[in-house]
This record gives sequence, structure tokens and C-alpha cells, in this order.
Amino acid sequence: MSVRVFLGLGSNLDNPLKQLKRAVSALREHSQIEFIRVSSAYLTKPMGPEDQADYYNAVVELSTALSAEALLVVTQSIEQQQGRKYNGKRWHERIIDLDILLYGDERIDSDNLIVPHPGLHERGFVLFPLYELDKNINIPGKGSIDQFMQSELTGEVLRKLDTVL
Ligand code: ATP
Ligand code: CA
Ligand code: CA
Repeated sequence: MSVRVFLGLGSNLDNPLKQLKRAVSALREHSQIEFIRVSSAYLTKPMGPEDQADYYNAVVELSTALSAEALLVVTQSIEQQQGRKYNGKRWHERIIDLDILLYGDERIDSDNLIVPHPGLHERGFVLFPLYELDKNINIPGKGSIDQFMQSELTGEVLRKLDTVL
């Protein structure tokens, strides 16, 4: 059975728009993923350390029969292929980041996976592209996306870009 999934993409290193496009292509080409669509790209302020470049973010909608755990392996291997290095610091600059935002209407809390993504409802750079794709999204355990669009958000969106990913 296939599940509708939303992934959050982000980059602020090494030509970020190119990195977002590479990640989108890898998802489009994956044999066990049915790619549905991608949001616009958004230029956003970094969260956490301020001594880093602005971010480019987007959200991808897909459908897959992969388990959430198996999908995490796929997204982490895409990060590795694009050369992401972990320096152990939270929210540090990165070539590419892929987060599982929503996996159907499931709530998951395991050692390596929390879904819905815990930051989703308070991050502008996630909510804006998600809302662009579907205004009726329900965030399991939190409620409709509408209520969060109005609240105080981190990761401020500076502008929506015309680039097609
Ligand atoms: P944040 O999760 O706050 O956006 P981050 O993306 O910078 O921070 P990472 O360093 O990319 O964090 O990931 C740290 C760990 O988060 C990963 O090893 C992964 O196991 C775990 N993780 C938990 N929930 C998720 C999720 N929904 N999607 C992706 N990774 C997750
Ligand atoms: Ca992230
Ligand atoms: Ca991540």
C-alpha cells in the first residue's frame, strides 16, 4: 500500500539551487518512489547559528510503498551522494538536508525517526512550501496547517523564487 509523503529539502552550500535540483532528480528517478510534485524554492534565514549563508528550501510530495525507516535510508543516501558531511553541530551549514516531514497520517517516535518532523509546525521555511502544495494538510497530533501559518515562526521566508526545481 502506498503512502503519501512530504519531504523537506534545504541547502546553503555549494550552489544550493543546484543541490536542491540534484536531490529532486534523485527522488524522481528512484524506482520505489512515485514523484508527485515539488513546491517553489524559497530563500530563507538560517535557523540556529547566524554566521552562515541564507538557505534555499522546498518541499516534495511523493507516494511510496517504502516504510518510513526504508525511506530514511534513501534520503540519507541521497545526502551522502551529494557529499554532505556531518560535523556534529546542530543546524550547521550543509550541502543538502532531506527531512521526512509527514508520512501519511502516521505518528512515529523511534531512536532515529520522529514523524511528523518535530520542527514542522514552527518553521516558516517548511510551512510555506507545504501550504503551497496543499492547504488542507493535517499535521497528526497537531491539527490543521492553517493555524500554524498565522503564528510566530522561525526560519523566516525572505522570498519565493521563480526557479523551477
Ligand atoms: P532538524 O531535524 O531539527 O531539522 P537537522 O535536519 O539539521 O535538524 P540532521 O543532522 O540532518 O538534523 O539529522 C539528525 C538525525 O535526525 C538523523 O540522523 C535522523 O536519524 C534523525 N531524524 C529524526 N526524525 C527525522 C525525520 N523526520 N527526518 C529525517 N531525519 C530524522
Ligand atoms: Ca532539517
Ligand atoms: Ca535532517
